Amino acid sequence: MASHLSSVSDPNAPSVRIVFACLCKSVRFETSASPTALPITTHVCHCSICRRTHGTLFTVNAQLPSPEPVWIPPSSLDKCVKYRSSRNLDRMFCGTCGTHVLDYGLDDGGYFVSTAIVESVDGLEDVRDASTTELSSTKGAESVFDVRVHVFSKHVKDGGTTAWWRPSMKCWDPSDEQDSASTDLATTGAPNQSAHITAHCHCGGVRFFVRRPDPVKDLPPGTTLVAKSLLPHHDRTKWFACNCYCDSCRLAAGVFVAQWFYVPLDAITLTDQPPTAPMNPAQLSALGTSKSYKSSNHVTRTFCGVCGATVFHFDDRLAADASIAVGLLDAPGGVRADEFLKWRTVEDPKEEQTADGLKYHGKWVGEYIRGLAEWGKKTEM
Ligand SMILES: [Zn+2]
Ligand SMILES: [Zn+2]
Ligand SMILES: [Zn+2]
Repeated sequence: MASHLSSVSDPNAPSVRIVFACLCKSVRFETSASPTALPITTHVCHCSICRRTHGTLFTVNAQLPSPEPVWIPPSSLDKCVKYRSSRNLDRMFCGTCGTHVLDYGLDDGGYFVSTAIVESVDGLEDVRDASTTELSSTKGAESVFDVRVHVFSKHVKDGGTTAWWRPSMKCWDPSDEQDSASTDLATTGAPNQSAHITAHCHCGGVRFFVRRPDPVKDLPPGTTLVAKSLLPHHDRTKWFACNCYCDSCRLAAGVFVAQWFYVPLDAITLTDQPPTAPMNPAQLSALGTSKSYKSSNHVTRTFCGVCGATVFHFDDRLAADASIAVGLLDAPGGVRADEFLKWRTVEDPKEEQTADGLKYHGKWVGEYIRGLAEWGKKTEM
């Protein structure tokens, strides 16, 4: 009886209410947590299934603090598309905007929530007020989630983004069996890897090729970007890639930072042959199982309607360009695709997109941009 009694929660016990929502807000749910259980420690997963279902280089999901999400009407489970990414895991994403919101473990019946979709946190400050003399400066996602361990980081060949996180994090690499798709990096490339690279989502419903930059014909990568200051330097043999921490990218991808690279439209083809005519954003938005969502006046984002992977970002002010989600690439050298991409390594904390991220989870974004800058200094020497 004692064990039964102790499992009954005290209705007067302090409780923190956490609301989660997707980018378009049609998926909204809440959960409550004991303040003493926060922050929830979680891990960064670098596995190929996470990369291919999100389009990012990793995911950061955490166990939901309560057994079930409580849907906030008019939202319900029906707003989510369910994708069985492996024998024992269902991944759920918003059918309208593509945000990955929850994973459900079929073996243990437990929910995992995206740490990127916290809309509000209520009750924590009051509790801390009463119990401690020092108030935390953070009242949002940072008070709810912290991260300690990299999972499947050896499976990414080049270390992926691990160097961009704080160095003290541990790595845990379960056997290959648990990430059966981990070997897909080098085995499914285009016939001529040196000229093209393949990109595809986890279910394979969206698949295309991207050619290398032509150092003579192509403008320096990223030249048509609004902010030319984004350019690290003009390495004309590689496409320009960067991390984005803005609220829209965070929510669209379901990860606090999304990785993109920029290409002219004629770099994207359905075969590894040169295109007869470049596809336009409308055609690319309709590729295979794609769905699209207009996240602002100028921006359309596309995602796979079956597995939820983020695919393209189009800005109508940059009509000749597309941004492509790096997590979809089959780079033989590793997930960072260093042979193909030139990464921006110095972020400006005052830039809107970085400021967004620092506001959402100052600790993670702060550590990440420091790690990125350190890595940049080492690799660019
Ligand atoms: Zn949505
Ligand atoms: Zn994973
Ligand atoms: Zn897919």
